[in-house]
Amino acid sequence: MKIDISKSLFEKAQQFIPGGVNSPVRAFKAVGGDPLFIKKADGPYLYDEDGNAFIELINSWGPLILGHNHPAIKEAILKATELGTSFGAPTAKEIEIADLITQMVPSVEKVRMVNSGTEATMSAVRLARGYTGKDKFIKFEGNYHGHGDSFLIAAGSGAITMGMPNSPGVTQGTARDTLLAPHNDLKAVEELVEANKGEVAAIILEPVPGNMGLILPKKGFLEGLRKLCDREGIILIFDEVMTGFRLAPGGAQEVFDVTPDLTTMGKIIGGGMPVGAYGGKKEIMEFVSPTGPVYQAGTLSGNPIAMAAGYAMLKHLHDNPSIYQELDKTGGKIVGGFKDTLQRLGLNYSMTHLGSMFSLFFTDKEVVDFETAKSCDTQLFGKYFQAMLSRGVYLAPSQFESFFLSTAIKDEHVQHIVQANEDSLKEVLDIY
Ligand SMILES: *Cc1c(COP(=O)(O)O)cnc(C)c1O
Repeated sequence: MKIDISKSLFEKAQQFIPGGVNSPVRAFKAVGGDPLFIKKADGPYLYDEDGNAFIELINSWGPLILGHNHPAIKEAILKATELGTSFGAPTAKEIEIADLITQMVPSVEKVRMVNSGTEATMSAVRLARGYTGKDKFIKFEGNYHGHGDSFLIAAGSGAITMGMPNSPGVTQGTARDTLLAPHNDLKAVEELVEANKGEVAAIILEPVPGNMGLILPKKGFLEGLRKLCDREGIILIFDEVMTGFRLAPGGAQEVFDVTPDLTTMGKIIGGGMPVGAYGGKKEIMEFVSPTGPVYQAGTLSGNPIAMAAGYAMLKHLHDNPSIYQELDKTGGKIVGGFKDTLQRLGLNYSMTHLGSMFSLFFTDKEVVDFETAKSCDTQLFGKYFQAMLSRGVYLAPSQFESFFLSTAIKDEHVQHIVQANEDSLKEVLDIY
């Protein structure tokens, strides 16, 4: 595989950009080698500057559930640019997208648009604190909620990959108000709430974590959190930045039939443009300024081009709900193929799958939380990543990231991916 142009671009990028990248996991530190510079993408394919093509299993880290350059989204963006790029004033499109979101996610009665998932979670926790008048909140080990200070404590995704579970720059004072519980452990949460009686504003979690690899909720875990929050007057926040509009039109809360008080959204909601949102019960959302006292604002929030892209994406998903069965089927074929291979090669690695998300963990333990996720052989994942790349399959450069499917992945790509997986495993494990 020729990578000369990417190599020279990476050298140049490092002169002007910290680490040569604008988001750390892109630097390939966890998997070795240099990052590829991407020139363009279409459907299921990424093309780098050297002219290599890859079938994509990241899809921009989740947003592009319809693949790259989907005609409906492209058209919406082009049309919107004709009318101007930003107004800093209300537009009709913002009502349309808010209306559609409340239809697709019924627990969201009112919604505020922001520009990233990070902004959504920061704002949701501030709102929960303002609404309840309490300071502390509970998060789960290995869950990632963006890079807001109070979340960078045992955070998943890049923060594990980069070996920085606790970032310098986050003050002790901030960290003190973030209480940590092991994921999927209801009893631990109950004890934590008991030990901080009357002081917990919110419990925030990824209902289906994708930021330590894909992890499924244990039976009764989400329901138990709902009951606990009701009993103790705690705001339950589902961070559906990754799972929202991906696992179902209504996200993980629809799949598992548990209703949070607030939901944070991002990724898919922008159709590939930078968008986030938070929403939920009317009486809580009314607490946000200008109706309420909790301040939150954004110069480019509700940007007309981003709203056009997001609306086109959500409308397409809303009008074509069979997409979710299709994605689940595609996921089943790939995971089935991977499992066949593992069995044939006598390998005991564990896999998880839900709809359009799946993970291959290089451990024989069942992965249910941060502890078990950390048992993975990340060195081996790095080699596997490179082996897949050289066979034209682009994965997230981290063991602790789910694989994401798009509707652009068809049977021919599934076959390629399954074969690449078998050949890559044989290569990295010296199996002949
Ligand atoms: C990606 C992600 C975020 C952060 O979103 P950004 O747009 O990267 O700021 C927050 N929560 C979850 C669950 C995510 O997957």
